[in-house]
Amino acid sequence: MLTGIHFLLTYKCTFECDHCFVYSSPDAEGVFTIARVENALKQMKETGTVNNAYFEGGEPFLYYPVLLESLALAKSMGFKTGIVTNAYWGESERDAELWLKPIAEIGIDDLSISDDLFHNPDGGKGPAAYALDAAKKLGMPVGDICIDKPKLIENADAKKGEPVIGGGALLKGRAAEKLIGDFPRREYSIFDKCPHEEFEKPSRFHLDPYGNLHPCQGISVGNMWEKPLKDIMNNYNPMKHPILSHILKGGPAKLAEEYGFDTSPGFVDHCHLCYEVRKTLLDRFPKELAPRQVYGL
Ligand code: SF4
Repeated sequence: MLTGIHFLLTYKCTFECDHCFVYSSPDAEGVFTIARVENALKQMKETGTVNNAYFEGGEPFLYYPVLLESLALAKSMGFKTGIVTNAYWGESERDAELWLKPIAEIGIDDLSISDDLFHNPDGGKGPAAYALDAAKKLGMPVGDICIDKPKLIENADAKKGEPVIGGGALLKGRAAEKLIGDFPRREYSIFDKCPHEEFEKPSRFHLDPYGNLHPCQGISVGNMWEKPLKDIMNNYNPMKHPILSHILKGGPAKLAEEYGFDTSPGFVDHCHLCYEVRKTLLDRFPKELAPRQVYGL
């Protein structure tokens, strides 16, 4: 049952992280207007099942007034709310408190702060740490998200398609281009399921500024600016989707076979194969694989 929508309030970000799934950067296009947020919240309400709204990106604090108003609207409509941020604004604890106080006053159910070497390459106390302290001081429910650079791990089950790299970064989007390095490539057929997403009964989608609903970044199951969310959900059938149906039947391996993708180079993991196959299908399925910018184009 669909219970959550994660708004990609903007694709723009202060950073250009190697592990970013959606190719965010300071130059990335795409931002919600407040009217679009309101429209989406109304559609979410009409489903009768969606009860939480997350605001992330890109970096949602880049559009601070829109973020504040979005939180207030969502709260007034009875949604639980959350934010994911890199806390670039936390120059000091005092500054961080200044940015967070209006949010604390509106009320929020979860604040997640990205605090890792991708966002704070020098280590030490940086904006994320100041923001964490300020949020705690303000009594906000806060936690940090830490993704490490991928590293090789020993894994006896590797042949079955179990991971051989750890660190938490998924190899899709920019990560599939930048973090592959010299990691061992494996035969494509072991990647016979999607280990991360539940497509048959999804509980959350990401919604981007163009209206695309993503169960996994870059795979669209409908456009909320063209068709109401309620109708998209009533007609939702992943077995009729030209990408999801094959992933459900046999993972990225089946997707590759179905569309005659050259699998000879081998792949690091499921997402790496999946992303590489999808990139070759963008012209064929422009609605289902959208927007192109999530594929670095
Ligand atoms: S295997 Fe494909 S669908 Fe599943 S999480 Fe990875 S990229 Fe997404």
